[in-house]
Amino acid sequence: MIHYHRLLGRLALIFLILHPLLLFIHEGSLFLGTPFRLAGLTVLLFLALTAFVASFYKKLKLPYELWLNIHKVNYILFPVALIHVFGNALPGSLLYYLWVVLSLLFALLLVEKVMREINIRKNPYEVVRVQQESKDIWSLYFRGKKIAYQPGQFMYLRLLREGKLSSSHPFTISSSPTWELLTVTPKELGDFTATIKDTKVGDLALIDAPYGVFSFLNHDCDRLAFIAGGIGITPFMSMLRYIYDRKIQKQVTVIWGNKDEEALCFQKELNEIALEMGNIKVVYVMSAQESWRGERGRIDGKVIEKYVPDLIRCHFFVCGPPMLSLAVMKTLREKGVPDRLIHHELFEF
Ligand SMILES: Cc1cc2nc3c(=O)[nH]c(=O)nc-3n(C[C@H](O)[C@H](O)[C@H](O)COP(=O)(O)OP(=O)(O)OC[C@H]3O[C@@H](n4cnc5c(N)ncnc54)[C@H](O)[C@@H]3O)c2cc1C
Repeated sequence: MIHYHRLLGRLALIFLILHPLLLFIHEGSLFLGTPFRLAGLTVLLFLALTAFVASFYKKLKLPYELWLNIHKVNYILFPVALIHVFGNALPGSLLYYLWVVLSLLFALLLVEKVMREINIRKNPYEVVRVQQESKDIWSLYFRGKKIAYQPGQFMYLRLLREGKLSSSHPFTISSSPTWELLTVTPKELGDFTATIKDTKVGDLALIDAPYGVFSFLNHDCDRLAFIAGGIGITPFMSMLRYIYDRKIQKQVTVIWGNKDEEALCFQKELNEIALEMGNIKVVYVMSAQESWRGERGRIDGKVIEKYVPDLIRCHFFVCGPPMLSLAVMKTLREKGVPDRLIHHELFEF
């Protein structure tokens, strides 16, 4: 969805820029003397700003929230665009009716958003446990209304602590749908995630879920390879916990890349699951620990082929920092694994 959203955003911007350009060529000038045309120009400039910030906010090191808030202003822009359109379009023309339909769709979207927000606020979750998993990784356990989710899906989380509501952040649901409590496992990476450890039992959370399609349940397969980098293990924890609880007999190989042992979380639980279920194998790969006795270096084609020899009969699930995930996917393609067998979650939009 996000991939197509980006493509459509760029395509829309091209059409929007062509629109005054063609008018200029046709009319010989850009007549801005009516409020309708000025409204159009305002929308065009703001959309160009939105696209610019969305494309370059990382390179320019702008805060994520700036990108998000500029995106949100587009909700106000749509009614301004309507002033432009209905001020100019001929009543009864095809274009006129197209915009009537679009306006109705926009109104429906707003109603859906408002209803969803009311529902989320009416059903807050309570933090019942805060658990340190490693030096900089914490799990939060929530009690509240049961959500029907698939292992591997994610949620949007806002924490209500000391009367202050945080901004919304996406996190994979690391618990299994078979559990009563819902959990997430954030790693300290920035402003918000650095405050996870300050969360207290009894704090409230607003949870919007489930989202995403990153789950083995969506694919008909007996052989699974889960390739994770660092905190990218969270969707696989959810899937492994589910496989363990349901005693699912699929062949699963987990290849998990980390800097060193200190960076690991869930190691004890993973080893216990692998020991009890003969069909699950966990391989740890350390990129910066000389003393590690297992696999060392990066997760490359050699490591993957060593532990998953029947490459083209396996569904690959890749999750972790974008650089690692993209490199692993490139390797898999070079080894002849077709795209339909490669599924990924990038942990950033
Ligand atoms: C589908 C998905 C699942 C994720 N699951 C996990 C998980 O299980 N555990 C985990 O530790 N992290 C997970 N993340 C990443 C997590 O959302 C970000 O690390 C977190 O939002 C960073 O916020 P911050 O304010 O601490 O850091 P910042 O310093 O603000 O940002 C650090 C990085 O996170 C990105 N980011 C910041 N805020 C957001 C936001 N609201 N939405 C999306 N990206 C953002 C920024 O682009 C930046 O690259 C997931 C991300 C996605 C998209």
